[in-house]
Amino acid sequence: MKVLVLGAGQLARMMALAGAPLNIEVLAYDVGTGHVVHPLTQQLMMKGLNTAITYAHVITAEFEHIPHDILDLCAASGKFRPTAEAIKAGGDRRLEKSLLDRAGVANATYHLITTRDDFEQAIEKVGLPMVLKSALGGYDGKGQWRLKSADAKEAIWAELESFLQAAPEQAIVAEAFIPFDREVSVIGARGQDGSLAIYPLTENTHSNGVLSLSVAQSDSQALQAEAEAMFKALAETLDYVGVLAIEFFEVNGTLLVNEIAPRVHNSGHWTQQGAETCQFENHLRAVCGLPLGSTALLRPTAMVNILGEDTLDDAILGLPHCHVHWYGKEKRPGRKMGHINVCASPKCDLKAALDELAAHLDPQAFPVVRI
Ligand code: ATP
Ligand code: MG
Ligand code: MG
Repeated sequence: MKVLVLGAGQLARMMALAGAPLNIEVLAYDVGTGHVVHPLTQQLMMKGLNTAITYAHVITAEFEHIPHDILDLCAASGKFRPTAEAIKAGGDRRLEKSLLDRAGVANATYHLITTRDDFEQAIEKVGLPMVLKSALGGYDGKGQWRLKSADAKEAIWAELESFLQAAPEQAIVAEAFIPFDREVSVIGARGQDGSLAIYPLTENTHSNGVLSLSVAQSDSQALQAEAEAMFKALAETLDYVGVLAIEFFEVNGTLLVNEIAPRVHNSGHWTQQGAETCQFENHLRAVCGLPLGSTALLRPTAMVNILGEDTLDDAILGLPHCHVHWYGKEKRPGRKMGHINVCASPKCDLKAALDELAAHLDPQAFPVVRI
């Protein structure tokens, strides 16, 4: 099977690595350059999307901010999975919020803003403190504002107004600030036959809006069941095929959906070492119409993101519980350059394994490692 991935970043790269043992060849379409490249080497394989669409058996995506003309062209070939609708909902918070409501999953109270009147109504309906998010293009906490109290109202409105004037296709989604106890996510796959394979919940810690640490270990069964029910509702509403990620806020023992990602997800990278089948392989299995693999947790596993660094202490490779994954990207401040998966073993629990790793990391560059 030949799978074309829209996007040529680390997620396409890790799909290529996971696909090789199953004889699944992965090609990546770099949306920025318009070139089809090899996902591991970035070497040019073909010029132009049309040739690749004809060559591939299946087309999928590694990110949601894809121009709609490209998505529609791929969808028209009949080879695109999950669906153009799912990708669009992941890339536009207006569509995403209406999807959450349609699927009947709990989420933060919200109001859409394009005018000053909308802004006043949002304050009425949503209350303060409030989180304001650009409808399009947001990721890693970018394109967000916080309105904490009424005295900051005019200053925030001035920012929103100039943002909306500069980008008339945009809107702002205002939502209630959720005083969450934890952030967790669930990753799962839905096959072409409607079968589901859902991983155990992952607990996530962000720093400066970017994921720093994900931890998968045994969690509350009631919470897992709640997450799985919401996963099923969303995946079925979208008639989804592939891996879908859902980010939640946990508040007083129950879950609210924060956002979805219609693709493999950073908080699922732990599955490479911690689950029977990794998320990348399960995504390929699903989009290729193959049976899904087991999502069973093999051992408690954590993932530490490598942000803005392109070297690590070599001694980390000698640590028995650590697995380093580089993405082969050029170094830029804060950029996701790779990750380290850390596994518990019969001799070492996850906390001790993370402590062992933390001793080799610069705490400035890796602010969140310990649990
Ligand atoms: P990602 O990189 O995960 O796609 P994003 O830029 O799309 O991120 P969100 O996940 O919506 O943004 O928000 C980033 C972070 O900001 C969340 O993980 C959470 O910590 C915080 N946050 C977002 N919305 C709220 C809210 N309504 N209440 C409290 N905190 C929030
Ligand atoms: Mg997001
Ligand atoms: Mg998020």
